[in-house]
Amino acid sequence: MQTTLMIYDGAAPADSDVARTGGVPLAPAGFTWPMCGSCCGGPLQFFAHLPVEDGVLSVFVCQNDPGACEFWDATSGANRVCLFPRADLQPVAVPETGVTLLPATSAIRAEVVTLDPEMDDAQDELAPDAYDLARSGWKREPEERFGKQREVLGSLGGSPSYLEDDRLPTCPSCAGTMEFAAHLEEGISAQVAMNLGGQLGYVFICRACREGAFLTD
Ligand SMILES: [Zn+2]
Ligand SMILES: [Zn+2]
Repeated sequence: MQTTLMIYDGAAPADSDVARTGGVPLAPAGFTWPMCGSCCGGPLQFFAHLPVEDGVLSVFVCQNDPGACEFWDATSGANRVCLFPRADLQPVAVPETGVTLLPATSAIRAEVVTLDPEMDDAQDELAPDAYDLARSGWKREPEERFGKQREVLGSLGGSPSYLEDDRLPTCPSCAGTMEFAAHLEEGISAQVAMNLGGQLGYVFICRACREGAFLTD
């Protein structure tokens, strides 16, 4: 089983076109900052810039009223995932009010982890989950239960970790099944973290419609 983990890779420039959490979104000309459709209608917070095969995923989540605003729900209007073409991206003007930016910009490097098939033999009640195994095993010494999992900012591709089928989002344009794109973790420290309510974030896309969706477990 191969998993492409996203690993914290130090600070990054706020407007760089590399995989990162935080900083300023890069978008095509004319893009306007997304507003929340669930709570006060304030601006969403920019979480992540994730280059993928056919463009860049840009993830926004409402933090204007955490706990009240249902940012964990893909249909709440309290989050947004855009799939932009990679060319001609430019920094977006940031709204002057609201919770819009993270305190720090964190670079992400991709690390492909191949798990030893013997690890699948454990007689756990839950079936082994590729992402869960890869994350808990990241930089783990033989005697340790966990490795350096705070360095893991999520993963790219693969399948969603322990997500109930009835939580899988449908495309808002074509109503079709969406493809799983990425996991997002809160971050390596409180200073740089995205608030996901202590949960794992899931990013989905419909490549045909160039639509995205976000939810947490
Ligand atoms: Zn909101
Ligand atoms: Zn679609």
